[in-house]
Amino acid sequence: MLDLLSPAQQDPILSLSIAFREDNRAEKMDLGIGVYKDSQGNTPIMQAVKAAQQQLADSQTTKSYVGLAGSEAYNQAMTNLLLKGTDGFSRSAAVQTPGASGALRMLADLMYLAKPITTVWISDPSYVNHKPVMEAAGLTVKFYPYFNATTKQVDADAMLDALASAGPDDVVLLHGCCHNPTGADIRPEHWQAINELAQKNGFTPFVDIAYQGFGEGLEEDANGLRLLADSVEEMLIATSCSKNFGLYRERTGAAIVIGKSAKEAGNAKGRILQLARATYTMPPDHGAAIVETILTSDELTKQWKDELDAMRGRIITLREGLSSALAARTGDNRFDFIKEHKGMFSMLGLTQEQVAKLHDDFGIYAVGDSRINVAGLTETRIDYLADALIAVAK
Ligand code: PMP
Repeated sequence: MLDLLSPAQQDPILSLSIAFREDNRAEKMDLGIGVYKDSQGNTPIMQAVKAAQQQLADSQTTKSYVGLAGSEAYNQAMTNLLLKGTDGFSRSAAVQTPGASGALRMLADLMYLAKPITTVWISDPSYVNHKPVMEAAGLTVKFYPYFNATTKQVDADAMLDALASAGPDDVVLLHGCCHNPTGADIRPEHWQAINELAQKNGFTPFVDIAYQGFGEGLEEDANGLRLLADSVEEMLIATSCSKNFGLYRERTGAAIVIGKSAKEAGNAKGRILQLARATYTMPPDHGAAIVETILTSDELTKQWKDELDAMRGRIITLREGLSSALAARTGDNRFDFIKEHKGMFSMLGLTQEQVAKLHDDFGIYAVGDSRINVAGLTETRIDYLADALIAVAK
C-alpha cells in the first residue's frame, strides 16, 4: 500500500527554516517562519506564562482526561476576549482546539456537515493553509481579490465587488487582524461594508484571528470581528493563543460559533464535539490551562497584557525603523507601507528572482511570495536589510 504513495510536497515555509539552520553564513537573517522574536533573536516564554506554568505544576493533581470541549473556563475566557459586549456573545458557543489550525479544520468539517455545497471565499493571497484545510474538508474554495500590489494595501473596491456576489451558500473567510501574509488590514469602513453585504446577501462571515494584540491592541484588533458579531445572525471564528501567548507548540486555540439563538449555537457545538471525537478526540490541555490561569487572575492578566503590549511595540518600532532606513536610501516614501502594515508580516511585492537574490547574495530568508516576518528582524540589522532590499529592488 505505502508504495503507491508519491512523495509529499515540501511545505515552503517549514522547509525554509531547515535551510536557514543549515546555512553557515554569519550574516544570515531569518525572516521566514511566523514566530515572534525578541531583540536577541529568541522566541521567549512570556513571564505570565512561566508564572502560570509554575502555579499549575504546584497545584495540578491529575492528568486525567478533561473532556471533548477541553476546559469550559478556558472556552469562556477566550469568548470574553473576543466577543464580550457584542450582541453575538449570548448566542455563541466555544470549543477548545489544537491551535487555530484545529479550529479551522473543525469549523470546515462543521460547514461540510451542515451544507456540503458551501463555497468558502478566501483572500488572494491568504494564509497558506486556508485552502488545503477547506478543501480537505470537502468544501469548494474561491478567492476574492485582496492585495493591491502597487499600493501594498487592501484593494477594497475589488474585494467588495467580488464579495457582492457571495450569497447564502457562501462563507467568507476574513483575517480578523494582522493579515497573513500581506500585513495589509481591512479598514473600519470596509468592515462595515462587508457587514452590510453579509446582511443583505446572506453569506456567513468566518473570521480567523490568529494575532489578536499584535496589530493595534487587544481590543482594537477585535473591532472588525465585533462589528460583525453585533449584526449578523451566524458567524464562525477561529482563534489562536500561539502568538499572543507565545504558546506555539502547546497547540492552543478555539473554535467559536455564533448562531441565530443560543440553542442553535449549542447544537453546533455538540456537532463539533462529535467531529472532534472522530478526529483527535480531545485537545491538549497544557496550553489552555496556562491561558485559563492567566485570564482568571487579574494580576497575571495585567502582566500578560503588558508583555503583549511590549511585543507589539517592538514590532512597530522595527517597522518604523525599516521604513525610515529605506526612505533615507531612496529619498522617497515608497516603502512607507512597511510602517502602515499590521502584525508580524509584510508582503514587499518583490519578484521570486528578487527574493532568491536576497537569499543568495545576502543570506536573507523571506517566503517566496516576498512575505517577511518583521519580528524576525533585530534593531542592529535594519541597515543591513535596507541595503539588501535596495540592492535587489534595483
Ligand atoms: N490562521 C492564521 C491566519 C495563521 O497565520 C496561522 C499560523 N500562525 C494559523 C491560523 C494557525 O495557528 P495555530 O498555530 O494556532 O494553529
